[in-house]
Amino acid sequence: MGAAPHGERGEAALIGVPFDGTASFRPGARFGPGAIREGSHSLETYSPFLDRDLANRDFIDAGDLEVAPGRPEKMIDLVSQRVKSILAQDMKPIVMGGEHTITIGVVSALVEKFDRFSVLQIDAHTDYRDEYLGEKYSHATVMRRIGEMIPPERIYRIGIRSGSREELIDAGIDLPIGAEARGKDVERVINSIPEDAELYITLDLDVFDPSLVPGVGNPEPNGLTWREFIQLMRVISYRNVLGCDVTELAPQYDTTGVSAIVAASVVRELMLCIMP
Ligand code: MN
Ligand code: MN
Repeated sequence: MGAAPHGERGEAALIGVPFDGTASFRPGARFGPGAIREGSHSLETYSPFLDRDLANRDFIDAGDLEVAPGRPEKMIDLVSQRVKSILAQDMKPIVMGGEHTITIGVVSALVEKFDRFSVLQIDAHTDYRDEYLGEKYSHATVMRRIGEMIPPERIYRIGIRSGSREELIDAGIDLPIGAEARGKDVERVINSIPEDAELYITLDLDVFDPSLVPGVGNPEPNGLTWREFIQLMRVISYRNVLGCDVTELAPQYDTTGVSAIVAASVVRELMLCIMP
């Protein structure tokens, strides 16, 4: 997508975190960063949806972190160190997963530099359990851990349609979730975020409908369409976005390769929101 090589400086830095050590159902997100880079070859640098072009932006690809399988704490610490060094060079982080657990590391770095930012979670799942299968650091608990680092009322959510009843209530989701409410929900959530808020965006690719992105660990029906995503990006592109991550691509479950190409398109749109 036109990234400068590692070692240079830019406005933003891509990093990959090929970790799927706590996957609860279908592992494979460790292949996400590589598949997104490969999928990006089929894309234009220009987004006709935002009328912005990555060819005019300065950003680097800082490569993948070397993470050991099955050691979430160690991985989170590595992500945090790397994101801190990116922030120290005044670059914005764009993190490619890997499973959603990686976001704990990113947010733990952000809280040291920014004291009043909000997190927008775009995801099918609440990820708000206190622990999962005895594990505190997991893709099923990531948003609970984030709610311990920033005030939970500064977490905003789009696309949520799965979780235990208890975690959905803890997260403040109105039940029952209406099958038709999804599009309206996007608008309502965005309007509830103060216009001057600093935003970090964490996007779990299972937020999309499985007909568009089947290559994820935990597919969930009734997800976002591409049109709804673009409507969201058009609003976000006028907001102050500090960084983002795109997680949970498990490319081997989609033999057509389309999931990875959609994921690369998502990264492109988000990058253009981050570098306006
Ligand atoms: Mn999810
Ligand atoms: Mn998630």
